[in-house]
Amino acid sequence: MRTEYDVAIVGAGPAGTTAAKFAAEQGVSVIVLEKDRDVGYPVRCGEAVSKAGVEEFITPDEKWISAHIHKFNMIAPNGEEVILPLEEEGLILERRIFDYTLAKEAAKLGAEVLTRAYVHGLIFEDGKVAGVKFIHSGIEKKIRAKIVIGADGVESRVGRWAGLQTVVDFRAMESSVQITAAGINNIQQDTCYFYFGREYAPEGYLWIFPKGNGSANIGLGISGNVGKKRSAISFLDSFLQKHYPDAAILTQVAGGVPCTVTLKKITAPGLMLVGDAARQVNPLSGGGIISGMIGGKLAGKIAGQAVKENDLEFIFKYEEEWEKRLGKRHGIFNRLKDGIYNFSDEKFNAIARSFNKVPLEKRTLGNLFKTALINNPSLLIDVAKVFVVK
Ligand SMILES: Cc1cc2nc3c(=O)[nH]c(=O)nc-3n(C[C@H](O)[C@H](O)[C@H](O)COP(=O)(O)OP(=O)(O)OC[C@H]3O[C@@H](n4cnc5c(N)ncnc54)[C@H](O)[C@@H]3O)c2cc1C
Repeated sequence: MRTEYDVAIVGAGPAGTTAAKFAAEQGVSVIVLEKDRDVGYPVRCGEAVSKAGVEEFITPDEKWISAHIHKFNMIAPNGEEVILPLEEEGLILERRIFDYTLAKEAAKLGAEVLTRAYVHGLIFEDGKVAGVKFIHSGIEKKIRAKIVIGADGVESRVGRWAGLQTVVDFRAMESSVQITAAGINNIQQDTCYFYFGREYAPEGYLWIFPKGNGSANIGLGISGNVGKKRSAISFLDSFLQKHYPDAAILTQVAGGVPCTVTLKKITAPGLMLVGDAARQVNPLSGGGIISGMIGGKLAGKIAGQAVKENDLEFIFKYEEEWEKRLGKRHGIFNRLKDGIYNFSDEKFNAIARSFNKVPLEKRTLGNLFKTALINNPSLLIDVAKVFVVK
């Protein structure tokens, strides 16, 4: 390990290692610092992604895929089920291996990765970020870098250290909890299950994602508002007692998901933020793996180019590129989320009843949103923007 790099990245999640890969690809020197002992562990994630999303970055490999998804089964508060065949295949990942593989891909292109490296501060020079301070195996160290990329996840502090406004309104910070359980034998392996309503997950949803061999990720997210009054884990406990009292719980994780628009500023002199640190999660679904990787790709490419051309001001271009690629779309998803999450149980039941009249071959996610928002013309325009005009 040297003491100077072109690009230093804090965090080896999918956003950080993707940024590393795209920066290293351009021949600049890159180091990724990860506080945990292992890349990819612990896993705090439902692990659901779209196959097309993954394919932008890496060829799907059965080594890190637990299930191939072709259908959603959405369950209304009264128990009515709505089957939605998917236009595009989904995947349930084995993130422990997926994250590890992404780090190896970045390393193949020359990026260095250092685990047990806890970053606790930034170095500033001439009013710009110029490196990181960290503790590695108990020893205080420093790395100087032309560009620092903060990929330190939902609890990110890197942006704050650089003076960026990173606070998320507590109502938009979904409180999530999940178990991976064995003995879940009544679900189909090609189907993701979603439960809606006050009993399961008010202002959010509960999910069951198959993981093969009778195991599944079962979790839920509720808004910060709801979480203040009743904890996410107590909703999950009630569900498990009712539906899977005999399930063997293999792991339990909890975490926040920033279901909101991206931060206004995701760059500062010498600094870029990617993934959850930049709040690049899809606010409607709560999915942040692929969108974080997209943020990582844009940031990594731009950082590499900025170093190569010796024009560090070029990093500010990243904000514009993100806005074009996903930022604007996330703004629309956020409005749709606000329009949907406060639906009453009766409204969810009515949507299920109407949508079940649509023939299976005509069911699409866009049509489902149209049914849900039929009485809300301004949001119908948003639905058309994101689901019709792709
Ligand atoms: C319960 C739950 C379920 C979810 N389900 C899904 C899902 O099904 N699909 C989906 O797409 N998304 C899901 N998400 C969201 C998804 O997990 C995140 O959006 C995604 O992991 C973001 O990637 P990232 O690289 O930005 O951050 P992370 O994956 O969180 O990686 C950040 C890394 O930075 C490291 N780090 C943090 N601070 C420091 C520091 N000071 N020094 C060094 N290293 C540091 C961490 O150890 C970590 O490895 C879920 C989230 C939760 C909580």
